[in-house]
Amino acid sequence: MSGNRDSSGIPLFDLSLVHEPIFSELTSAVEQVAKSNRFINGKSVSDFEAAFERYHGSGYAVGLSSGTDALLVALMAMGVGPGDEVITTPFTFVSTAEVILRVGAKPVFVDIDEHTFCIDAKHIASKITSRTKAIIPVHLFGRACSMEEIHAISEQAGLVVIEDCAQAMGARARSNLVGTLGDFGAFSFFPTKNLGGWGDGGMLLCSTREKALRVKSTRDHGAIKKGRYESMGGNFRLDSVQAAVLLRKLDYVDEWRQKRQRAARLYNRLFAEAGFRGHASDPLIPPSEDPQGEHSFGLYVIRASDRDELADYLAQSSIGCGKYYDMPLHLQGSFSHLGYERGDFPVAEGAARQVLAIPCYAGITEEAQETVVQAITGFYNS
Ligand SMILES: *Cc1c(COP(=O)(O)O)cnc(C)c1O
Repeated sequence: MSGNRDSSGIPLFDLSLVHEPIFSELTSAVEQVAKSNRFINGKSVSDFEAAFERYHGSGYAVGLSSGTDALLVALMAMGVGPGDEVITTPFTFVSTAEVILRVGAKPVFVDIDEHTFCIDAKHIASKITSRTKAIIPVHLFGRACSMEEIHAISEQAGLVVIEDCAQAMGARARSNLVGTLGDFGAFSFFPTKNLGGWGDGGMLLCSTREKALRVKSTRDHGAIKKGRYESMGGNFRLDSVQAAVLLRKLDYVDEWRQKRQRAARLYNRLFAEAGFRGHASDPLIPPSEDPQGEHSFGLYVIRASDRDELADYLAQSSIGCGKYYDMPLHLQGSFSHLGYERGDFPVAEGAARQVLAIPCYAGITEEAQETVVQAITGFYNS
């Protein structure tokens, strides 16, 4: 996910459009941290955590070093480890399942729903064993999972629910913001995410104060007080400079989300006008809105037949695009010891052959979107 601007074409992301209008606000926030000489923790981190809680209307926020570390720390804080199983999706960024291996537990994959690309809740119950400790649903591309079903299953089996909200800040499952529905919401502030820093950063939104205290201890080497260490932890802190930038950017995150949503709706309309209305037999299927919740369009991802040829064609036309994801995790080398095979998760494997993200960022112009749609329809008509 590069945020670079290509002056001649249409990039997949264009961070300059969100940063330029507030550039001096952001640099003065950085300057304040520099002048305070408090580079670790301090006011910018606690202010950002408090603002993040207010934004979500519930939960206890703990700033962390990255989205990957947020997922890892949630597992560590809950004592998930060797002999335990954690259920998740094979169709996600590698972090989601990598952290399960890092604590010594076993990822158990469940296939996805073909329309939402999220874990298919109806297949979860059959994968639960006496060793299952947690489930990590991923709100992929900004579309919320069916949290009601997942909640019911996890409640009954006594599982910890860690929502991977890395791509979905601001999305809603029914009327609830993602991250407020499980035991933990894990967020990433990688620069191209819905709320992005000027570097790496992450957050756990915890459902109770008690869990937040465990997370705070884990982020600080398992300390219970200065110099006294009670459990395994590490240095998982959010930088003060990042917190200062993120606190300023938080004021704009809803405006940027609304702009992406408007851009997504325009794409859907332009594709429909070009004859692509979401029928299964069409060569191109645009993403659907969430009829019950709210899609935050962290990425706008189409399903395209001849996807690789289309991606090459767009690249030649200087239009940015990205294959999120072209290989599901159960087929990746780092998970091969789990013994999964091609064919185990046919829906995820099918999606991996067809998905393509196209430019849909806050500030993209209607003209640019028309150019993208013309290029794509031109590809299929030629
Ligand atoms: C980006 C991402 C992560 C990891 O976040 P980092 O901040 O890059 O470590 C985890 N899960 C998903 C689904 C992501 O998209």
